[in-house]
Amino acid sequence: PTILAIESSCDDTSAAVIKDGKILANIVATQAVHEKYGGVVPELASRAHEQNIIPVVSQALLTANITKSELNAVAFTRGPGLLGALLVGCSFAKSFALGLNIPVIEVNHMQAHILAHFIDEPKPNFPFLCLTVSGGHTQIVLVKNYLEMQVLGQTTDDAVGEAFDKSAKLLGLPYPGGPMLDRLAQTGNPNAYTFPIVNMPNYDFSFSGIKTSILNFIKNNTQANPNFIQEHLPDICASIQQALIQTLMKKLVSAAKETNIKEIAIAGGVSANSGLRQTVQDYAKKYQWQTYIPAFQYCTDNAAMIAMTAHFKYLAGEFTNQYASPDPRLKISL
Ligand code: ATP
Ligand code: FE
Repeated sequence: PTILAIESSCDDTSAAVIKDGKILANIVATQAVHEKYGGVVPELASRAHEQNIIPVVSQALLTANITKSELNAVAFTRGPGLLGALLVGCSFAKSFALGLNIPVIEVNHMQAHILAHFIDEPKPNFPFLCLTVSGGHTQIVLVKNYLEMQVLGQTTDDAVGEAFDKSAKLLGLPYPGGPMLDRLAQTGNPNAYTFPIVNMPNYDFSFSGIKTSILNFIKNNTQANPNFIQEHLPDICASIQQALIQTLMKKLVSAAKETNIKEIAIAGGVSANSGLRQTVQDYAKKYQWQTYIPAFQYCTDNAAMIAMTAHFKYLAGEFTNQYASPDPRLKISL
């Protein structure tokens, strides 16, 4: 099948075309409008999606060299995400499909982050564990099949991407802070400082406490030396990054042990983090894991992963209809 897929859950407007499981185009328009606010402003995101969606879809079809009449279905992200942002993609997809008289497919954004692993080789073997780490989620997922997944544990407050972004903000780094903190950490000493993170029961996480510990750290150290942060920025970034990564890895290791699964994947925006990518590879040697780390373009939000998921849903005959509406809190488990 040939499918057009739309992603509009947060601040990226994206369209992709997939033909028989192969991605032919993946166009992403990022929204610069949020930079000056230091975070995503939902209302502005919706408006930018509204402006971007037609050019992005046109570009995707042009790049794929596919005409509208060749499409077999239109897919969209139903959730989780920002309601107003999701509405743009959902309404567009339904209208487009109605005009062409073809079916619509709804996709769960978190499931799609995981299925991004099936775009390129090497592909994980079932069952595998996926550490999904993004701006809104932190989950350890048992992936039994393409469309059969179980969340083993997740964050009870902030997502790890949020922890990266908020830590960066406290250090005075510009938005989006995660990638910037990563870059600075690369030249720092990860053992320079300690930032304790609470150990939650089972496979759950809690990252909201790190903000307070960073604030206290800044207060204590800038009293004697007001330039302390600027002078030690790489070491501070590396230490914060290490604390976050160690917390993730600890749970991932115990999940791998208890499920006896050695196929391990990471997904979501934070899987672009160089420290996490390296650590996962190091642990692969230590624990004889087969690890799967997505290409950078498929870590953060993109419609290619929505298209890949839609491809599997098409083959499984899972379609929705014109009554479909977004669900900002859509869950991954059945
Ligand atoms: P969700 O997928 O949970 O709905 P989202 O779509 O907003 O949330 P993604 O686009 O998957 O999230 O990921 C964005 C997050 O990834 C941001 O928090 C960003 O800071 C973080 N991120 C991206 N690159 C890096 C990096 N190199 N190091 C650390 N964090 C990063
Ligand atoms: Fe995402």
